[in-house]
Amino acid sequence: MLKKTLLAAILSSSIYATEFITIGTGGVTGVYYPTGGAICKMMNKTQKETHIKCTVESTGGSVYNIKTIQADELDFGIAQSDIVYQAVHGEGKFKDKPFKDLKVVMSIHPELLTLAVRKDSNIKKFADLKGKIINIGNPGSGNEATVKLLFKTSNELNITDIKPEQLKSSECPNALKDKKIDGYFYMVGHPTANFKDAANSVDIDLISLKDVPAAQKLVKEKSYYEWGTIPANMYKGVKHDTVTFGVKAVLVTSSKESEKAVYTMTKAILDNFEDFKKLHPAYKNLTKEDLLKGFDHSLLHPGALKAFKEAGLIK
Ligand code: GLU
Repeated sequence: MLKKTLLAAILSSSIYATEFITIGTGGVTGVYYPTGGAICKMMNKTQKETHIKCTVESTGGSVYNIKTIQADELDFGIAQSDIVYQAVHGEGKFKDKPFKDLKVVMSIHPELLTLAVRKDSNIKKFADLKGKIINIGNPGSGNEATVKLLFKTSNELNITDIKPEQLKSSECPNALKDKKIDGYFYMVGHPTANFKDAANSVDIDLISLKDVPAAQKLVKEKSYYEWGTIPANMYKGVKHDTVTFGVKAVLVTSSKESEKAVYTMTKAILDNFEDFKKLHPAYKNLTKEDLLKGFDHSLLHPGALKAFKEAGLIK
């Protein structure tokens, strides 16, 4: 009997010794999904010592990730900085239930609200979207929330003036090629496999939003929106720069997450920063200081704060 109990104790202690954590990301052809993979890769290097194993899940995106962390069903998630702000302040999709326990680990790459259209769609500017079938993002994506806000802010076009679709981002390149949609919005880091897929299967164009009054208003009024440029020739056939607005992708968790896990994760990125940067071209210009941009530092999880202080990035 004693032997059996002892065996059970040994077995359970070896099982429970490993802490499993999951990072919620986005569609498989976006940048969140490979970013989750890159973070876990850095973190799992020290798995033998830390006994923490990191895994990644493809999800619907920002809103889904934050809501699922809020429901205690996910440990970490990547989310747009505008959605992070709204979650903490009880705005938008979080109007009925603000997420007061949301904590930030770090911010990562910049994302830009990108409008891709089929070249033969006759769409040259935002106002031309009238009557067109446009994917605005799947339910649960941050993309959907930002696109809806853009239309709500706009005086020139209502969302009812377009025919909105809600396909998953990974389905959009094919839907564009098959003429099921005329264009799609995607708030994402660049370059991304998604637009490469699209540009390689059909002639596409990217539409600048810099002259759209609603976009100008959002950038002027909201500190988390910024202008950015998708350079010419990043995607096949798009020979001009595209200026649009965007956010930062932010890695978030809950205050309930252990200090050890958050510290290990943050330290893994800081200690292996050059290796991390090689894992995706969207991190090309990233500096360690950038990891602290795009969110209120009072939201930093204590584990992340400790790692940033040790690295001398926060006093
Ligand atoms: N920003 C997108 C969203 O939350 C996801 C982008 C990505 O997966 O890289 O809807």
